[in-house]
Amino acid sequence: MASASSTVTAEHFRYLAARTTPEDDFLKELRSAAAKAGLPAIHVAPEQGSFMRILLKIMGAKEVVEVGTLGGYSAIWMARSGARVTTIEYKEKHADFAERWIAKSDVAARINLLRGAGQDLLPVLADDSKDAAFLDADKAGYPGYLKECLRIVRPGGLILVDNAFAFGELLAKRATDPEVEAVRAFNEIMAKTPGLSGVIVPIGDGLWVAVRE
Ligand code: SAH
Ligand code: MG
Repeated sequence: MASASSTVTAEHFRYLAARTTPEDDFLKELRSAAAKAGLPAIHVAPEQGSFMRILLKIMGAKEVVEVGTLGGYSAIWMARSGARVTTIEYKEKHADFAERWIAKSDVAARINLLRGAGQDLLPVLADDSKDAAFLDADKAGYPGYLKECLRIVRPGGLILVDNAFAFGELLAKRATDPEVEAVRAFNEIMAKTPGLSGVIVPIGDGLWVAVRE
């Protein structure tokens, strides 16, 4: 009998990843250079970058804001949708690396890196000035970022949030990562926020895809 849903296993993740439009050599090189430079390998999965690019492309996004640049991997994926990306990073080392690789990329002209904390820089952005936001920084900061994004992202715009599966520990009895609780609490907020319709897409480490109604 046909079932309304299937259990997504690690094998399904590998299956879908193998069939998703892949990253190019430049993004591959960026990832290995980032690892060599000592940046943590906590960028979005390639298939997730690909998916976010598709979403932004079909909605015709012109302006996107990201919190959490790291090495610029997700920012470059998103800018390849055709949108302009403003990306926020507070660690100098990460911002320095990202700036160098963004400058070398094919989308250098469409990415603007802002140095500073999401808490300080999102409040500076104008109401309804972005078509989409991607949150991928400190998880304790997510509720505050969401509040700002509900103002910054225009009605009909998209709010994407990473790590809904809490680094694989969402349902763990004894979670080890200190940010797991913050992710759990944030997922409840996302599910209950009026004016926001969302779904957790099981790609990467779980991606919230929500529309500001
Ligand atoms: N989006 C990136 C990965 C981001 S990792 C990608 O997929 O390629 C999370 C990043 O958020 C780290 O670089 C970290 O330094 C940054 N960060 C953490 N807290 C922050 C804050 N409060 N403001 C801005 N950046 C922050
Ligand atoms: Mg993430």
